Amino acid sequence: MQSRAPYVVPWTGETVAAGKTVVSEHGVAYANPVQDGFYRAWDGILWTLSGGTRSGSPVYARELHPYRQREAMDRLLCAGCNGSPSRDERGVLWLLPLLDDAEDTVWEGVQTVIPPMCVPCKTKATQSCPRLRDGHVELRVKEAEKIGVRGTLYPPPGVEGKPDPDALVLFDSPDEGRVIARQLVRELRDVTVVTFAASTP
Ligand SMILES: [Zn+2]
Repeated sequence: MQSRAPYVVPWTGETVAAGKTVVSEHGVAYANPVQDGFYRAWDGILWTLSGGTRSGSPVYARELHPYRQREAMDRLLCAGCNGSPSRDERGVLWLLPLLDDAEDTVWEGVQTVIPPMCVPCKTKATQSCPRLRDGHVELRVKEAEKIGVRGTLYPPPGVEGKPDPDALVLFDSPDEGRVIARQLVRELRDVTVVTFAASTP
């Protein structure tokens, strides 16, 4: 069963942690410059540290693995197998868990950290992933722009307050330099709702 866990799901053998950081007028940085260089993306955004190996068991309740999520989301690869997602004339296949206020959800323009999927992985994921088993929507999406990241947002130097552990920071916003990113976010547009599935026991 475990080998069937989707590619982006983290494992108990894996760790994610923010390293020792310093915040200056230039933004947030890792105190260790080697670490900083390694985890800073080409666009200047700093990413969370990750370690360990895909061992133990998959953890569906945790955020998607930051490295594999970013890879799949950036390159538009399937969240399940890291291959090509399914495409047809309505666009790319996206499978999302239903939100709490599902009845009123407007899927056009929804912002998500979940990468697209292929049809074989869709079937497997609806069986293996508890969040999808609790209900999901299947979409076809023509446009999915990368709009920003989710992560920990540090206050500017001299400003009191704790970091916001789960902030959405848009690209080119003034907050961009003060975030340690964990997930890449895309906004889905020109969306066709294919089907809803309610909770399955
Ligand atoms: Zn797949």
